[in-house]
Amino acid sequence: MIEKTATELSRLLSSGSLSSVELTRAYLDRIAKANDNLNAYITICEESALEQAKKADERRAKGFRHPLLGIPLAHKDIFCTDGINTTCGSRMLENFIAPYNATVVEKFEDVGAVTLGKTNMDEFAMGSSNETSYFGPAKNPWNIKKVPGGSSGGSAAAIAADLCAIATGTDTGGSIRQPAAFCGVTGFKPSYGRVSRWGMIAFASSLDQAGPICKSAEDAAILTSVMAGLDNKDSTSVDKPVEAYSATLNKSLKGLKIGIPAQHFRDGLSSEVERSIKEALKVYEQMGARVTEINLAHNHLSVPAYYVIAPAEASANLSRYDGVRYGYRCENPVDLEDMYKRSRSEGFGAEVKRRIMVGTYALSAGYYDDYYQKAQKIRRLIKNDFDRAFEEVDVIIGPTSPNTAFDIGAKKDPVAMYLEDIYTIAVNLAGLPGISVPAGFSEGLPIGMHIIGKHFEEAKVLNVAHQFQQETEWHKQKPKFGLED
Ligand code: GLN
Repeated sequence: MIEKTATELSRLLSSGSLSSVELTRAYLDRIAKANDNLNAYITICEESALEQAKKADERRAKGFRHPLLGIPLAHKDIFCTDGINTTCGSRMLENFIAPYNATVVEKFEDVGAVTLGKTNMDEFAMGSSNETSYFGPAKNPWNIKKVPGGSSGGSAAAIAADLCAIATGTDTGGSIRQPAAFCGVTGFKPSYGRVSRWGMIAFASSLDQAGPICKSAEDAAILTSVMAGLDNKDSTSVDKPVEAYSATLNKSLKGLKIGIPAQHFRDGLSSEVERSIKEALKVYEQMGARVTEINLAHNHLSVPAYYVIAPAEASANLSRYDGVRYGYRCENPVDLEDMYKRSRSEGFGAEVKRRIMVGTYALSAGYYDDYYQKAQKIRRLIKNDFDRAFEEVDVIIGPTSPNTAFDIGAKKDPVAMYLEDIYTIAVNLAGLPGISVPAGFSEGLPIGMHIIGKHFEEAKVLNVAHQFQQETEWHKQKPKFGLED
């Protein structure tokens, strides 16, 4: 039963044929068997999960109803959880226990979801492979020599291998969608401002956005309606009513206008990925959609602009880790400066330090206009490209990632790693919603299709994704990982 979607599990729980305690036990058993190999979880909360499950069963007996009541969930270890370690994949926060819950965590608790644990991630969400995690990389359940993608790779691997029913992730440049693509699961980044960032450890504040990683678009709709909404604790969260995303999943796609960015089908795209996406477009055409080419002329500038803006914001956000207030502190500092220097040198990994240095440089006097200001101008051009495209089309579809999961250790050059996000980063720069859904396989590894929508058209993106999943079986494929035992 652990392979079922939350929607299916919810039915079993409501019918009384399954209790949340039984279900939670089943996931904990699976974790006990598989996590040593997969390294998908950093922290497993066995005791508190079983307690929450018991409470969920009691709430149900008293008449409380919600589709996620009693459903076992994993949180990316970037969300603060009251009384449970929140490491952000870093030595800096190895022993950090937040005294409060992130808004996202709180919302899932309110509806009675059961927290199984905290999932592995690239350090401070910087990476595309999980390899920058201080706790070692999570593995891809389709082939454990391969990366699961990043930075929310632990959540994606946990979903693919049935180590939880539903999960959270965050996406600054592709960190929900790319791991979802690599692990053959569904990952949705809502519009910037749709989900509160409060209590979610900041990487690049103008780009970070939380969203669900799960087994179907139907599940993603339920999770998004729980996560979304105005939060007075996050001034960038938007005061717009949360739509009933599940209610519009079955809308017909007849007459839907799909834009295909010419720039997403050029050099660097694997021919297998290209073939799968083109096949998927035929499925949409059969449903009555029309496909036209669009032009995202500045897409090639998205990665360079992002690697100025994101490090700049990260350098400011990460200045709080100074060894004084919380987090790692070096042993026996001789004076204050020595403590700052050594705490940060010892507490942060190489990629995080690289970003802090790039960001500090880009923001420094004399370079601000040349780099940061210029990157912001490019950001506007990228947004304008999308605005223009969306005058003609309803959604934009392309590949999530240029290739399938690569070998652990294969990408040594940081820039090669950065190019992983060539199709996803522009969506963060423009603040748009984007989902990745499974759309094929190449040599036994999953391929993801990327669907981008207009600002706050979460409902349409989920509708377009769900309709594809009604016509295809890609999202139902399971890795053989661990099934032999
Ligand atoms: N891979 C990108 C980076 O390393 C995006 C990460 C993310 O979305 N958090 O910054």
